[in-house]
Amino acid sequence: MYVCNHCTLLDHKIKTVPAGSKERSDFIIEKKIHKKRANAFYQLMKQNVDDSVSYCFDLQQIQPLPKTPVQEAYYSRQIGFYNFCVVDVKGLYPKFYCWTEEQAGKGST
Ligand SMILES: [Zn+2]
Repeated sequence: MYVCNHCTLLDHKIKTVPAGSKERSDFIIEKKIHKKRANAFYQLMKQNVDDSVSYCFDLQQIQPLPKTPVQEAYYSRQIGFYNFCVVDVKGLYPKFYCWTEEQAGKGST
């Protein structure tokens, strides 16, 4: 299970401050509020809005090519393979745009 940076920070603070202190109970309350806000956000994202289309974009993890168990190749320079996915969240057909680093880079545009 993944958690966000804020949850991790609050968990650390809750563990490190003295038990029963006001500071600790404030961190616990802050975490509860944070989780309730996150749940409200995800409930809002699940709602269907009439006459609208929602897309999800994901520039996925860079895959090094070639994929090989040969140790010398692993430590040699490999080519980055990029995979950008666009999907209509109501649909079933994602579109993948794939390229290698000699064709284009990976930037914000
Ligand atoms: Zn969080």
